[in-house]
Amino acid sequence: MIKTEHHDDPTFFLATSENIIVILYIFHMANCSACKKYLWFFTKKYYIYPGKEKGSLDLCEEKYLCQKCFDASFNKKKEENARGRKLSDFLLLMAKKNYADALEMYDSIFDKDIPGDWYTRGNILANLGKRREALDCYNEALFLDTHYAKAWYRKGQILFETKNFVDAARCFENVLQLENYARLFSNRPYRWFNAAMFYCMVSWVLLSNELVKLGRFSNEAHKNAGYWILRVRNGLKIASPQLSTDNFVDFCIQNFGKILDALEPRLLAEFKWDEQFTSRR
Ligand SMILES: [Zn+2]
Repeated sequence: MIKTEHHDDPTFFLATSENIIVILYIFHMANCSACKKYLWFFTKKYYIYPGKEKGSLDLCEEKYLCQKCFDASFNKKKEENARGRKLSDFLLLMAKKNYADALEMYDSIFDKDIPGDWYTRGNILANLGKRREALDCYNEALFLDTHYAKAWYRKGQILFETKNFVDAARCFENVLQLENYARLFSNRPYRWFNAAMFYCMVSWVLLSNELVKLGRFSNEAHKNAGYWILRVRNGLKIASPQLSTDNFVDFCIQNFGKILDALEPRLLAEFKWDEQFTSRR
């Protein structure tokens, strides 16, 4: 018979309050990324997600801001009263689809340190058909905040439209990962999840088809397409389950715009940067 000593029991180790503090300390060693001040476990931290490199497709881990540095970056909000008046005019221009004037108006209140400003500017440029410039804006937004799901979504869209299906799919997968993450840690509902999943499927299907047409069948593209078709079929009630897989895919491609329109959240343009820039947990 094996005799169990109490110190062999992991619950004993966890149960001592002293050790709990040591464990918390190890798992929560953090410094403010602006002033480098050490942040204790019980110190209020604000999370930010800056990118390593502009244009990278990687999601980055969180960094922290202390209360003081957060307040400093947040003080910009106070200047927003004047900005607010212009924003309502801007919204009106967007609603009228007068994107050229909207861009001019937006540039007069644009703040390069706010990810949401880059995002909105990217949207205006995309509406003007300036994809290259729009992509640059989304890259800037994601460089400031790699956890900016909407910006990944829009970047994916531009890459999709320019037939860069592999990178587009990466962007949409990032959206899925972030939306899953957001749902785990808060009660925020999925917003871009379904549309991103649909895009993932169509990206891989179109890539796989294109390679077949070129006589360069790709096992990876074929496998990925199959994986996403299954996920979309099971996850989204788009078409009758009676349809064969081929008919389902044809249906999705033929009705691409209509389906997407139904899956995307209805938004015109965003200005609330605090919600995406940093989140309190
Ligand atoms: Zn600080």
